[in-house]
Amino acid sequence: MAMYNKKSIEDVEVAGKKVLVRCDFNVPMKDGVITSDKRIVEALPTIKYLLSKGAKVILCSHMGKPKGQVVEKYSLAPVAARLSELLGINVALAADTTGEDAKAKAAALKEGEAMLLENVRFDIREEKNDPTMAKELADLAELYVNDAFGTAHRAHASTAGVADYLPAVCGYLIGKEIGIMGKALSNPERPFVAILGGAKVKDKLSVINNLLTKVDTLIIGGGMAYTFLAAQGKGTGTSLLDESKIDYCREMLEKAEAQGVKILLPVDTVVAKEFPDPIDAEIETTTVCSCCIPEDMMGLDIGEKTAALYAEAAKNAKTVVWNGPMGVFENPTLAKGTIAVAQALADSEATTIVGGGDSAAACEQLGFASEITHISTGGGASLEFLEGLELPGIACLNDKE
Ligand code: AMP
Repeated sequence: MAMYNKKSIEDVEVAGKKVLVRCDFNVPMKDGVITSDKRIVEALPTIKYLLSKGAKVILCSHMGKPKGQVVEKYSLAPVAARLSELLGINVALAADTTGEDAKAKAAALKEGEAMLLENVRFDIREEKNDPTMAKELADLAELYVNDAFGTAHRAHASTAGVADYLPAVCGYLIGKEIGIMGKALSNPERPFVAILGGAKVKDKLSVINNLLTKVDTLIIGGGMAYTFLAAQGKGTGTSLLDESKIDYCREMLEKAEAQGVKILLPVDTVVAKEFPDPIDAEIETTTVCSCCIPEDMMGLDIGEKTAALYAEAAKNAKTVVWNGPMGVFENPTLAKGTIAVAQALADSEATTIVGGGDSAAACEQLGFASEITHISTGGGASLEFLEGLELPGIACLNDKE
């Protein structure tokens, strides 16, 4: 497990300095309007700290996937406007990322002022981690702060490359992620239970190998459970299945047994004839034993017995990490398993960590967020953290002495 001991904004002198801060302002938008400003709000503590210390703050972020083109709908203009409201100061948006306007605006910044660069992914060099772009970003400032955990698993010019040219530290968001997740995973209070779900079977199967060396119990739900059931020789009907990974799942089951790690798989499954279309459409379901999913049916949620079993394991744990919904939770009929797990985490006395994406959204929508110890701001990044992979956006930061 990567254990990070990185310098933070509080460990360096920032007064009077131009500070480039990589944020995750990739907020959801509809028709040019921000539908949730959560990511902007979460970035405020770092920004406010820097402003209060008299730094000249140059913010940057990506939004969407413009693939190196200037795409109007991915402009950060709405973010600049929202930031201005939230901070109560004008946050000017540069017309470019590292061009003439960015340079001029950065050079004119005064202490306690902030500006925002235009979308870093408007520049084709960003995702290639092109050193010329990293250098141009670095030339705007005297210190680099990374506070974008959501992109910390990517080595891009603004998330990692820039640290080759500037002193580099973490902001409060990344500091909290590595503090809580790092501690929970390197020296967990036991029993340590991991709950994995969701649909991206391939992505998540690789996490399992690493988790098996750490956890006492591994709980599998969601679309990835069926590849495990298939590995046990069970029929899975028309459920989501990754045939190329059946052998791998069998190996994991054997490894778990050899290491004395319990793997819990669904004992009952909510099935339907078809995937709901649209996803929240009314749907007729029945619950069957997981050993006999009918050939023409697909599993879309864990059943009640399974939910109770999983909830019990979570309640008795001292550390729980959860990533991925237990079923097609976008549909109210198929959300019960996910709700039960979210409720169990909320009720548990354990240190509870929810890794980004859908499981985080589920906890928030259900109003359980305040009962969870830590909800990670990064889906993919938190998975890679769990996997024990080094995150380039964190590894690049300066170590504490
Ligand atoms: P992921 O992005 O891998 O976390 O997967 C999240 C998605 O998995 C959600 O959109 C769920 O609807 C979907 N999902 C969960 N369980 C199932 C299932 N049994 N079959 C198909 N999709 C599922």
